[in-house]
Amino acid sequence: MLNQIGGIHHITSIATDANKNNRFFTKVLGLRRVKKTVNFDVPDVYHLYYGNEEGAPGSAITYFPYPNIGTRTRGSGEIGITAFSVPKGAMGYWQNRLVEMGIANLQSSERFGDARLEFTGPDGEGLAMVETDDDKRQPWIGNDIGTDVAIRGFHSASMSLKDEGAMRELLVFMNYEIADTKDGVTRLVAKKRNGADIIDLQTAPASDNAQQGAGSVHHIALAVDNDKDQAAVRKALKDTGYAVTPVIDRNYFHSIYFRVPDGILFEVATNNPGFTVDEDRKALGQSLKLPHQHTHLREQLEQTLPVIED
Ligand code: ZN
Repeated sequence: MLNQIGGIHHITSIATDANKNNRFFTKVLGLRRVKKTVNFDVPDVYHLYYGNEEGAPGSAITYFPYPNIGTRTRGSGEIGITAFSVPKGAMGYWQNRLVEMGIANLQSSERFGDARLEFTGPDGEGLAMVETDDDKRQPWIGNDIGTDVAIRGFHSASMSLKDEGAMRELLVFMNYEIADTKDGVTRLVAKKRNGADIIDLQTAPASDNAQQGAGSVHHIALAVDNDKDQAAVRKALKDTGYAVTPVIDRNYFHSIYFRVPDGILFEVATNNPGFTVDEDRKALGQSLKLPHQHTHLREQLEQTLPVIED
């Protein structure tokens, strides 16, 4: 049993159009773009990060915009919904704002007693707002959205699975505990908390496997404090039989990855050094930042990557 993992670190998804993606997360949802870099593994594709002021672990939703990628097929073995935490009483504001801005597929519901508003993003990604009354995280206030309603960070991720048994076991092994089960959803909560503590498991035995494409979550990263904790997690997962990658330097955090048989790709990422490692806090997300292995591509990338209109 592990005790190092503390909540979601970031969630990375696939988009098509970088500008639509940027507009949606900054202008509609009011997050701050905290990093404009490239996919380190596919450097001719952007990697855009949105979150609170410093993109704290638990607040960062990130995207790879592939202009020509096909649409996805929803199904089992994927994260179907990424949910954001908003203060109690904020839902009316968000409902009106999202309607006014033409956001699709709004659906109000309640889960485990909390008001919930599901909607889809520009690439059909499943998103939600959830009201909570005890979220002390500082929101980013950079536009017309007030402190009383602004997004605090992630509330949860909802996984769609053919059978939740193996995932439940894995999450419990990784320091989550079962909080509740209701209406076909099992809720797990991280015992070590960072605010983005919830993973919901939804069982859909009859559904086909999801096919990745625009709007899919690419992976979910869980947070550890430092390299030492990450090494302990890596060893324990390997000892349990998971094929875990070596540690990869992602500039803003260090990462290991493993895919579970259900199809979901996990990352375990360190909380340090964070997004201020290569630019000033005030200037986060403004200029194109490249890791040392790709600096020689700058001239080419500045010509081929679409200009992002802020
Ligand atoms: Zn990642």
